[in-house]
Amino acid sequence: MSEAFSAESQLIHAGTERVVGQPATPPLVPASIYVSLGEPQPGRGYGRESNPGWEALEQALGALEDAEAVVFASGQAASMALMLALAKGRDSIVLPSDGYYGTRVLADKLRPHGAVPVHVDLQDLPAVERALAGHGPSKSGSSLLWTETPTNPLLRVADLARLAELAATAGAPMVTDNTVATGLLQRPLDSGATASLYSLTKALSGHSDVILGAVVSRDVELLAALRAWRSSGGAVPGPFEAWLALRGLKTLPLRIARQSQSALAIARHLAAHPRVAAVHYPGVSTPASQVAARQMTGGFGPLLSFEIIPDRAEAADQVVESSTLILPATSFGGVESSWERRGRWAGETAPDGLIRLSVGVEPAADLITDIDAALKALETLEPLEVL
Ligand code: PLP
Repeated sequence: MSEAFSAESQLIHAGTERVVGQPATPPLVPASIYVSLGEPQPGRGYGRESNPGWEALEQALGALEDAEAVVFASGQAASMALMLALAKGRDSIVLPSDGYYGTRVLADKLRPHGAVPVHVDLQDLPAVERALAGHGPSKSGSSLLWTETPTNPLLRVADLARLAELAATAGAPMVTDNTVATGLLQRPLDSGATASLYSLTKALSGHSDVILGAVVSRDVELLAALRAWRSSGGAVPGPFEAWLALRGLKTLPLRIARQSQSALAIARHLAAHPRVAAVHYPGVSTPASQVAARQMTGGFGPLLSFEIIPDRAEAADQVVESSTLILPATSFGGVESSWERRGRWAGETAPDGLIRLSVGVEPAADLITDIDAALKALETLEPLEVL
């Protein structure tokens, strides 16, 4: 379809062939082989190389950032391919100390091509500059900069344009994990990132029924390297997962607008709650939220976190267990609201009393009723006056 139309329209029409008598939406094609003869063709021959469902999904994801997408079996598979493709010949991989813990675990395990992981606070630009220049703990000379904003689970905001300048000066490619915001609310490639990384498991697919990932980039060489890693590593999406993700993606603009609006209302409500010590959401006023307002458009996304009083694991567990509408579950971005005490995961560095809430598409008033009732559980545990 013509690129003259908006990304929202391209999401809806991606993969549609407009051929009389053919399905109006891209069909599910469960194929491990395609009819082929002679010299193997790039593309359709073997199911590890391609599937029409992936191609439609890649078309839609690419449209969100005026770029091309390569889809993978999970967000982690996409991260692994990206680390392997970009770390070659580099000494270090500089990554956020407070982002998704799975990325740190992966970089530690992988040490891709010998690149040593160096953790930094992305809000501390001089520290990032030092790490990229090799004056950080790794004393390395050439790096890959891995960024994430807003971060999972603390929703901290990093200034992508400033980070991209630092990366360019150091000759380091910059990756942005854009899972929390999605390409609809934030376009890292426009700020200078070489690649955007996505777990499609979250808001992009939106219905908590697939595990899938993608990289989006405008760098032709990188895209070719990623396809080669996918093919030889074999972390390919299943046709059904790709089909589900594309189906979910069509309603992303509607879902994310509603989720962002409700999340902001809930964040403001929680900020005034006597049992809440801190709320983390890019839409709630802090110095970092000014950066978020500059680099995000159309909302701040479905994810927020808050710290309860008292800052204790069993108190947070009690709150999470007490909800009757919000689902006690991990992950985020689905149509159903869910929450969890984030510190329950080994390797996570969130405070004990931090609850991460993914706001779904239920009416915000229902969610606030459920949250207030669940927070009442703290009164039976410990009255506020005696704390
Ligand atoms: N990036 C972020 C920010 C995440 O939250 C996650 C998963 O929670 C991932 C990447 C990994 O994605 P997946 O679970 O699809 O492998």
